[in-house]
Amino acid sequence: MRVPTAVHDRTVTAWLHEAQASVTARADYLTQLDAAIGDGDHGINMTRGFEAVGKALAAQGADTPPGRLLVIAGKTLVSTVGGASGPLWGSALRAAGRSLGDAEAFDGPQLAAALDAALAAVVALGAAQPGDKTMVDALGPATAALRERLAAQASIADAVSAAADAAEAGAQATAPMQARKGRASYLGERSIGHQDPGATSAALIMRALDTAVMQEG
Ligand code: ADP
Ligand code: MG
Repeated sequence: MRVPTAVHDRTVTAWLHEAQASVTARADYLTQLDAAIGDGDHGINMTRGFEAVGKALAAQGADTPPGRLLVIAGKTLVSTVGGASGPLWGSALRAAGRSLGDAEAFDGPQLAAALDAALAAVVALGAAQPGDKTMVDALGPATAALRERLAAQASIADAVSAAADAAEAGAQATAPMQARKGRASYLGERSIGHQDPGATSAALIMRALDTAVMQEG
């Protein structure tokens, strides 16, 4: 198996297409999770947003730098998704894209910096702390795992795989939490016992990156 050392624009395109396929395939599940503690639109929001991202990417030239593709994806999410997840994911992807700049490819540390920037953008906009039962509880562990594995000399593929595992574990760990941000916080203690929809879709998006790196690396 080829061990990827750098990630290219093809990988970002594959990532966003894989994310689209993944949230679309699990739209009903995401909506059920949101129906339990929110307003039941998360699957629809994510599906609509990533479908628009797919179309926006299809209109880009083959040599568009990966950072630029992420900025376009982020802007598309902001303009097509009405729920909280639109601006949050939109800011995240724009920040990741700006962090990568116009480089043709990026390595592990640059990917880690981009995901850190994405997380920082979500926190800057939504002010969620770890444990507030939001997408931060999936993205935080994911970025930490990515950095930890890269520091231990893992390949990008292994580090991204560990990040996706950490995001899934983080999403599952939101079930016993009480929501302190977003619509679910209106439920107070009644939000306890349900997995957070946004953390769940964040884990799908991290797994989509893992799949894209494995395929395209
Ligand atoms: P809405 O809540 O507007 O209907 P969605 O259903 O699309 O939007 O997304 C809900 C998800 O957004 C939540 O499950 C949570 O993970 C995330 N979220 C909501 N508010 C915040 C916030 N302030 N910071 C981070 N994530 C948040
Ligand atoms: Mg909702």
